Amino acid sequence: MIPSTSINRRGALKALTAGGAGLAAMMLPRKLMGPEGLNAEEQIAAPSLRALPRLKITDVRTIPMTVGRYHLTVVKVMTDEPGLYGVGCGTHSERQAVVADTIERYMKPAIVGRYADDINDIWHMAWLAPYWRASVDASNAMSAIDGALWDILGKRAGMPVYELLGGKLRPAVPMFANANGSSPDEIEDGVRAAIEEGYQFVRIRHADSRPPADGWSEVDDEGAPVFPARRRDIVNVNELVETFEHLRDTVGWDVELSHDVHGALSPSSALTLAKACEPLRLHFLEDLFSPEDAHWYEHARAQSSTPIAYGELIVNQNEWVPLAANRWIDYIRCHISAIGGLTPARKIAACCEFFGVRTSWHGPANVSPIGHAVNMHLDLATKNFGIAEGDPFSDELQELFPGAPERRNGMTYPSDAPGLGVDINEEMAANYPPQGGRDRGMRCFDGSPCHP
Ligand code: MG
Repeated sequence: MIPSTSINRRGALKALTAGGAGLAAMMLPRKLMGPEGLNAEEQIAAPSLRALPRLKITDVRTIPMTVGRYHLTVVKVMTDEPGLYGVGCGTHSERQAVVADTIERYMKPAIVGRYADDINDIWHMAWLAPYWRASVDASNAMSAIDGALWDILGKRAGMPVYELLGGKLRPAVPMFANANGSSPDEIEDGVRAAIEEGYQFVRIRHADSRPPADGWSEVDDEGAPVFPARRRDIVNVNELVETFEHLRDTVGWDVELSHDVHGALSPSSALTLAKACEPLRLHFLEDLFSPEDAHWYEHARAQSSTPIAYGELIVNQNEWVPLAANRWIDYIRCHISAIGGLTPARKIAACCEFFGVRTSWHGPANVSPIGHAVNMHLDLATKNFGIAEGDPFSDELQELFPGAPERRNGMTYPSDAPGLGVDINEEMAANYPPQGGRDRGMRCFDGSPCHP
């Protein structure tokens, strides 16, 4: 039996001797073409195989900006086709300056001169280059470049990114709203307002349960914390259960309700909450346990049927693989730029599909509209999509990011614009100078540090 590689080699040689250089170039293994592409003979033949010539990356423009409380970092990746560029988001609102520096110092020198469609190769080289994998700062920098390269690919193809991912499975993406308040009645008002706006999913939160996070070094002359501390677990658990009971009694059962625990309870208190919420039929409890206590998800699954969403603090594949493969969570909540961007996120979505885990990518206001566009394109093309997070964009953000995904009636609607469909208004962005990020330290009821 002749090995298939021999057949390919013979076929390639035959085609070459027959003058079929184009066919031969197509059959040659990629590794034989060299890192810079085809040899001289193949370059002559190559244009007949491609609809468009390959483009090179000529520059990366890092654009950090601070809009209100949010410290955004986006990029423009320029190409040697005049006017063609891509945009990407690498927002890590707490460490804006570090991400911007990583892009400028490490990513930009490595990719200028590379082909813009080498998305996979650039991503994996960037993953391995720092030797230590899964730094959240490096992942955000990678995400910014990765998003921009997908944007360029879509623009060149004249197709929205969701079509590059295999096409839409739904016409629009449903989102959940947030209803915050300091009493069950106030939260009820928020839930009713969201339903009025068209939302069918609402996440609730007691305004008092999470005091403002003002920084880990905020102490007075005596060394005591100067900002309000989080309340004790028993207060929070009882209050949440009472509020959910109130909402079921008053608003009813047609709305899907959820809550973000934010890893703030002790593991046993969090498990008590999940069990107490069973009769209330929640959409999910989010981040029931912190990453430090992730092994508790196995116990929660065994002891409670309340659905669980988890993952906005994940940066490494080892953190989510066991949770998904063992079916200990129902929704994966990664922050797409924190795991490295669209390229790894689409693999996570595909992997989770086979374990019945649905996607609900982290999407608060400290993700730029470019990042939200990445989330939306992936949501549209993901079979096991669960729910999206996002509020309507302010007029200010829509002006800063022309083409931001359209949001109304509790849904995000795609356009058929090529690429990600969103841009950055650089001239306007110059009026929002970066402030570097913010700290998120928080304290427990006794003044000791606790999870924000
Ligand atoms: Mg959360």
